[in-house]
Amino acid sequence: MSDNLKNIINKSESMLNDLVQIRRHIHQNPELSFKEFLTAEFIRDNLRMMGINYKAIAETGTLALIGNGERCVALRADIDALPIQEETGLEFASKNSGVMHACGHDMHTTMLLGAARILKGIESELNGTVKIIFQPGEEKLPGGASKLIEEGVLENPKVSAIFGQHIFPEESTGTISVNSGYIMASADELYWTLKGKGTHAAQPHLGNDCIMAASQLVMNLQTVVTKYRNPVKPGLLSVTAIHGGSAPNVFPDEVKLMGTFRANDEEWRGKMHDEIRRITNDTCSLFGIKGEVEIVKGYPALYNNPETTLIAEKTAKELLSKDSVEVFEPKLWAEDFAYYAQKIPSTFWFLGIRPKGISELPPLHNSKLIPDEKALSIGAAMLAGTAVNFLSIGK
Ligand SMILES: [Zn+2]
Ligand SMILES: [Zn+2]
Repeated sequence: MSDNLKNIINKSESMLNDLVQIRRHIHQNPELSFKEFLTAEFIRDNLRMMGINYKAIAETGTLALIGNGERCVALRADIDALPIQEETGLEFASKNSGVMHACGHDMHTTMLLGAARILKGIESELNGTVKIIFQPGEEKLPGGASKLIEEGVLENPKVSAIFGQHIFPEESTGTISVNSGYIMASADELYWTLKGKGTHAAQPHLGNDCIMAASQLVMNLQTVVTKYRNPVKPGLLSVTAIHGGSAPNVFPDEVKLMGTFRANDEEWRGKMHDEIRRITNDTCSLFGIKGEVEIVKGYPALYNNPETTLIAEKTAKELLSKDSVEVFEPKLWAEDFAYYAQKIPSTFWFLGIRPKGISELPPLHNSKLIPDEKALSIGAAMLAGTAVNFLSIGK
C-alpha cells in the first residue's frame, strides 16, 4: 500500500467517532428532496471548520474544491431524506415526523465530509483537484444531478471522472460491491386512465366494462418485455396499482392504473414508450373505451465505466483487503448519479453496512433500516483513496 493510502485509512479510522456524531446529527434532522436547507447549512459549517472554501449550487447543493491543478476528479454524495416515518427506535431517530434518512444519504453525506477532511490534510500532495459535490434531491424527479449539471457542476474546472457510493444492506461491513457496465436501470413512471360509460352490472350492454379492459391491458402490457425486448438485455414493466369501482353490481366509469417501466437500453426505452401507448390505445378500443397513459420519464440507466471502475476496485483492495471486493449483480433500481455517467467516465459502488453477526437487514427505504456506523470510516477512506489513485494514475 502506498504511504498516501496508509495515511488515508489510518486517518479515517481515527475520525470514526467524529463521523458517527456528524451522521447522527444529520440522521436526526432529515429533510425532503430540494428542501435540505438546514442540512446544507450543517455541511457548510463543517467545511468552514475544516478550512475548506465552498459555494452553493442549485440552492441546497454545495460545491468545494480541494487541491490544485487542471486535472479534476469529482466525488458526490446525495443529501436528501424520504417521506417515511422512522421506526428504528434509536435514541437519535428522526425528529421530523414523517421524514427519515431511510436510503442512507445521511451516511453518504457524512462519508464525503470525512473524505474532504482527509483530502484537505494531504492537499499539497494531491496531483490535481478534487471537486466535492453535496447534491440535493436524489429521491425526486427531475433529480438533483440533472439540475447540478445544468448549473455547470462538471465545468470550471472540467471534471475528468466522478465517483459516488451507496450504502448496501445486503452486504456486510467491509465489503465494496462494484461492477462495470450497466449496473442500474432507467425508471419511468406510468399512469393510465381508462374511461367508459358506467352501467349496472346486470345490464353490461348499456355501457362499458372498464374493469375487463384494465385486466386485459395488464396482460397485454406484458408483451412489451416478452415480445419486444432483446431477451439478453434486462427490462421490466410492472403494473403496481389498479383502482376502480366501489360496488359489486356497478361497472365504474373509470379505472386508474400505475406502474413502472425499466430498461438499460436508451433506444429500446424510447421505442417502448410508443409501444406502451399503442397497446393501451388498441386494448381500450377493443372495449369501446378511451385509454390514456401518461409516461413520466425518470432517470436514465447507470453505466459504470470499466477504467474508472478498475481504479475503484484497486483502491478497495489496497485500502481494505483483496477479498473485500464483491461483484455487484446489476439491479433494476434507479439512481440519478446516472446523469453524471452519461457525461463523463463514472463509477458508483456499493458499501456494505450489515454488521457482523447479523444475517439480514431491512432493505433501503425501509422504516427500520439501521446501517452499521463502522462503515463510515471505510466509505470516507474509499472516496478519498479513489480520488488520490485516480489523480496519481493520470499524472
Ligand atoms: Zn433511495
Ligand atoms: Zn439512495
